Amino acid sequence: MNQKIDIKNIPSDVKVHRPEQSDNHTYNLRSRIYVRAVKGLHQLIRRKIGIISLGLFGLLPWLKYGDRQAILLDIVNQEFNIFGLTLWPQDLTLFASILIISAYLLFFVTTFYGRVWCGYLCPQTVWTFMFIWFEEKIEGTANKRKRFDEMPMSWTKVWKKTLKHTSWWGVSLLTSLTFIGYFVPIDQLFVDFFTFEASSAIVGWTLFFAGATYANAGWMREVMCIHMCPYSRFQSSMFDKDTFTVTYDTERGEKRGPRSRKVNREENGLGDCIDCNLCVQVCPTGIDIRNGLQYECINCGACIDACDETMDKMNYPRGLISYTTEHSLEGKPTKILRGKLYGYLVVISIMFAAFIWQISSRVPLELNIERDRNALYRETDEGLIENTYTLQIINKSQTDNEYLIEIQGLDHFDFIGLKQIKVKAGEVLRLPISIAVDPFELNKPITDIKIVLHSTSGDLTVDEESRFFKGR
Ligand code: SF4
Ligand code: SF4
Repeated sequence: MNQKIDIKNIPSDVKVHRPEQSDNHTYNLRSRIYVRAVKGLHQLIRRKIGIISLGLFGLLPWLKYGDRQAILLDIVNQEFNIFGLTLWPQDLTLFASILIISAYLLFFVTTFYGRVWCGYLCPQTVWTFMFIWFEEKIEGTANKRKRFDEMPMSWTKVWKKTLKHTSWWGVSLLTSLTFIGYFVPIDQLFVDFFTFEASSAIVGWTLFFAGATYANAGWMREVMCIHMCPYSRFQSSMFDKDTFTVTYDTERGEKRGPRSRKVNREENGLGDCIDCNLCVQVCPTGIDIRNGLQYECINCGACIDACDETMDKMNYPRGLISYTTEHSLEGKPTKILRGKLYGYLVVISIMFAAFIWQISSRVPLELNIERDRNALYRETDEGLIENTYTLQIINKSQTDNEYLIEIQGLDHFDFIGLKQIKVKAGEVLRLPISIAVDPFELNKPITDIKIVLHSTSGDLTVDEESRFFKGR
């Protein structure tokens, strides 16, 4: 159960503090963690990042670009609008590039600064801290909450619990609707949902995501980070002796023990840790960082702030728990720029350059040609050889456009069908055309041709090769 990443030696006299084993009153019988609130630099940064990311999440789907929703990932119509850009399933390589860049950025940050993504930006952490904020406002501090849970049922308990769960459900419902608003037009979604006009599919998905948010941030919390998140399992492969992680300075802290401020620690053979347990009480995953680096640690820095507060009260220097590297603890210099980081940077730069090139060279128009499957060719009453094609024209832009069709590779021919066609924004249009040629004009059974599509505004041209069959 107590799995650790084998990075540093853990002294055998360090006490183990596990929720399920502890006699510490931070936990109740179900090992529920009552996270104690703490103030400090890292919590301030975490809160600000949380507010900014929550604000962006809530506001982005309401932004307009022209007359349409700026970000709308329309799965039903397989059309992903991101401001002026419309991506289609055919643009799969772009999505793949975004995923690869994101993955390598995460690897880079993890190698450099440990699991800071988890501690500061991961939605699980952001929403969990938001739910804890409601819990604290309604039920009080960690100790009060614990006592409150142990109290017998009363009217106060009923209304406070009702208020807490109602606020959690309110946030969950808003979260769910906002999330779905990235996939269906959000203004209509809110109107339909609150006037009971939404389809059963929309209602079902909304309740599903609301339930998931309520369960994850309200009840499961650290269980997600410890037992369900795959990232916590493979992060150790990215760590090295120069990775900044939240670390307890064992050398300085041990031998730990409570004492008054007046006690001379050197004379009493004590280290700087006064065993106040605050670092454990503020930990959202319920671990004791003094046991060494553990895979449950999300690098949130709450224990650093708590310990610094204690160090200030004792007039000891700050930094008994800090973001530091194993090399630094050994008294060796930390290598900030190193091979692994250069490697990640190279991959990120190449993928980013490829992504920019793909975006800038992308033509918002696609032409596919299907030949008539029933007959390669047919002879007309006038003795001409006729081939039939179906053009599939996809207008991937966000404006309606008109296109001209040009045939290359044949000198003289009759064109049967529309030569100029209007295609709406985002429309996939199927257009049958035929080409008829005098057989004396054709000197081989199969002639390579090219069908070219020009936008009438002159800024877009695509072409596709095909063949004209004569027969003999
Ligand atoms: S040990 Fe410290 S940094 Fe790690 S999760 Fe707990 S409070 Fe956050
Ligand atoms: S907060 Fe600091 S002093 Fe208190 S128990 Fe943790 S490491 Fe020791």
